[in-house]
Amino acid sequence: MSFDVHKIREDFPILQEKVYGNPLVYLDNGATTQKPMPVIACINDFHRHSNSSIHRGVHYLSEQATEAYEQARITVQEFIRAKHSHEIIFTSGTTASINGVAFSFGERFVHAGDEIIITEMEHHANIVPWQMLCERKNARLKVIPFNDEGILQVDKLEELIQDKTRLIAVMHASNTLATLNPVKQIISLAHRYNIPVLVDGAQSVPHMSVDVQDMDCDFFAFSGHKMYGPTGIGILYGKEKWLDDIPPFQGGGDMVDVVTFEKTTYNQLPYKFEAGTSNYVGAVGLGKAVEYLVTAGINDVADHEHDLLQYAVGRLDNLGYVTLYGRAPQKTSLVTFTLRDIHPYDAGMILDKMGIAVRTGTHCAQPVMRHYGIDGNIRASFAMYNTREEIDALIEGIQKVKTMFGG
Ligand code: PMP
Repeated sequence: MSFDVHKIREDFPILQEKVYGNPLVYLDNGATTQKPMPVIACINDFHRHSNSSIHRGVHYLSEQATEAYEQARITVQEFIRAKHSHEIIFTSGTTASINGVAFSFGERFVHAGDEIIITEMEHHANIVPWQMLCERKNARLKVIPFNDEGILQVDKLEELIQDKTRLIAVMHASNTLATLNPVKQIISLAHRYNIPVLVDGAQSVPHMSVDVQDMDCDFFAFSGHKMYGPTGIGILYGKEKWLDDIPPFQGGGDMVDVVTFEKTTYNQLPYKFEAGTSNYVGAVGLGKAVEYLVTAGINDVADHEHDLLQYAVGRLDNLGYVTLYGRAPQKTSLVTFTLRDIHPYDAGMILDKMGIAVRTGTHCAQPVMRHYGIDGNIRASFAMYNTREEIDALIEGIQKVKTMFGG
């Protein structure tokens, strides 16, 4: 097998850290991933050798920085197989990308009485911006439910679609249920009614190969920090025709063509959506992270993580006192669960003392927790550098938690 997890681990210096004297077992990758040396070195080198504001200067450094920034755009374009590089907009992350579309698309196309459809399993980042839009425009939010297995009830979508439906926003992979939603099916149904679809790819892009043209989504959003890149950088992909049609979401430098006090005309794509000094260092770091994923082999990464998922589910199920949330047949690599009679926060704090980093709480998806009548759960989310041994450590940790709480 070409994928060598031990070799991969050597690239991530933080994995050598000790936590309270124990080896770090980092299972909070759904929140953010650790960074490999090539990404760390790239950011360092950029600051040492190439730093300069992009698109503004004719001097050597500015040209170097601009070239690196635009190359990163092409790297991302090729990675998600977008048709044009100007369909790739650098933002600060998934949240900014979705807010940007909610604002700009909303300004242009959403009016009083119109409807937006989302799903019950969305992250708050794909709920609240649409709610804010609906409040601004006096529009209505509708929700596709999921069943107790964590499977989206796509058969309910057609009855939710009305003449007044303006957009559907759906997550590709769930950050709480791990469900991989049938986005292609949703998009092809939506397009039959000429409704555009935004896909939140924050939890899919790091774990599987994504082809936005094949998916045929109209907008696609994701974050650099969840895919081994830096924080504060992310992507909004939009089909050219939509990006041409909607107004910019921010005004300022770089996004303009001619500015007078009477009227301003906007720059061409993608700059129309990149106002101000962009996070060019982050963009270059994200480009390097994509290269790292490509070199590791995104399909090998997916296979490795799928093995971890299966292994974790099997071991957790065997314990007998664990409730797992999300049993969809197609899943990404995370598990969320509760331990009978033990509060998630207590479990999380004790696991932490053993060096095991898991997430506890609602994971920014309160409606999912409400669906199951819980106020939070525990999440272990896997990345390419995790191992079966680390899952064994998690299980051992859970057994200790259970013993401490008298089980
Ligand atoms: N959507 C999903 C599915 C997520 O998991 C997250 C991050 N937890 C976000 C959106 C928001 O991403 P960011 O905080 O990087 O903007």
